Amino acid sequence: MPRLVVATHNTHKTAEIQAILGDRFASYLDLTSFPEIEPAVEDGETFEDNARIKALHAARFLPDDVVLADDSGLEVDALGGAPGVYSARYAGPKATDAANREKLLTELGDEPRRSARFRCVLALAQAGEVTHLASGAVEGEILLGEEGEGGFGYDPLFRPLSHQASFGVLSAEMKNARSHRGNALRELVRLLDLTV
Ligand code: IMP
Repeated sequence: MPRLVVATHNTHKTAEIQAILGDRFASYLDLTSFPEIEPAVEDGETFEDNARIKALHAARFLPDDVVLADDSGLEVDALGGAPGVYSARYAGPKATDAANREKLLTELGDEPRRSARFRCVLALAQAGEVTHLASGAVEGEILLGEEGEGGFGYDPLFRPLSHQASFGVLSAEMKNARSHRGNALRELVRLLDLTV
């Protein structure tokens, strides 16, 4: 059974992915174990472009492993879909999660239309090729202020429609059960179970 290398430095993402893929891979690593691999240049215009770019970039350095890249972000309707593919660097090139959340609240102000969704595209690569693509989304709304301290990124500002609390309050299990990444991973599992 191969090991899976998640093409990210975000250990929160790695944990969410491992929790759902479980024993389908022998072990799970991410790019924090390979400091010699420079981050990919994420210059795609869509989540799919960037997921492919990240998966193929890491796979070049890891010819014996299966590589999984996640590209994800938040689309806010009242902001024309922003921050979208720029979610990680909304407040600037090296922005912290807290700075990005603050910018989002400032941009939205007291706008009453607060509908939004997280999207995630996953690309699985092996031997230099993307072998599987899967996507997922979760609809919700942007809160007027932060709620909870769990998760990462925009979690404390995002309430999924299915629930009365933000992703910053929900347990990891509850977030995984309905999140964009969870939904994309479940689609990937269906594809893998069909083709492995
Ligand atoms: P990526 O690492 O280039 O895919 O950027 C994703 C960015 O979107 C992250 O830095 C977060 O700001 C945001 N994001 C993606 N998924 C989540 C999530 O599950 N919770 C909160 N924020 C997320």
